[in-house]
Amino acid sequence: MDNAMSNRHNGRRRGLRVLCPGRYCHTGVTEITVEELKESGVEAVLLDLDNTLVGWQRSDISREVLEWLDQLKRAGFKLCLVSNTRFGRRLRALSERLEIPYVRRAWKPRKKGFLEAMQELGVEPSKTVMIGDQMFTDVLGGNRVGVFTYMVKPMAKREFLGTKISRVAESVLLIWFRRRGDL
Ligand SMILES: [Mg+2]
Repeated sequence: MDNAMSNRHNGRRRGLRVLCPGRYCHTGVTEITVEELKESGVEAVLLDLDNTLVGWQRSDISREVLEWLDQLKRAGFKLCLVSNTRFGRRLRALSERLEIPYVRRAWKPRKKGFLEAMQELGVEPSKTVMIGDQMFTDVLGGNRVGVFTYMVKPMAKREFLGTKISRVAESVLLIWFRRRGDL
């Protein structure tokens, strides 16, 4: 079993470690395998949208990501989109096209969206993972509700200016977590 995953029940993360992802995926979501999730007893996968499954504010999904989502569905995982996007229509359309439900107004890193998603899917945090590209929303929020967090390298460089700024802090923290052996 992946070392990071085996530590998933180590309880609440203290201090800055609440920002530390359980695992960082350099090549994006497709790096996470069905086997790895199954071995860890995962039942549900919460998914960020922008720069995790699609480019920022885009609606086209790569064949690779579509196939990966299909594999997860065929393996029986419960999926839910947990996105902070302001564009509800695009989120709805993608949700329909992918046949994956979504929560409204997730407001990550607030707990609300994550809790709603888990309630909707009928799963416990210990059997749920969150996959997203941002430390201060996806990882922080996921860690706060006690789910294992995967941080993926953002799909595209193009993004909101505020996000570009937080990327600098993310890089510094990722280096720091790696040096400490947290990641
Ligand atoms: Mg994102």
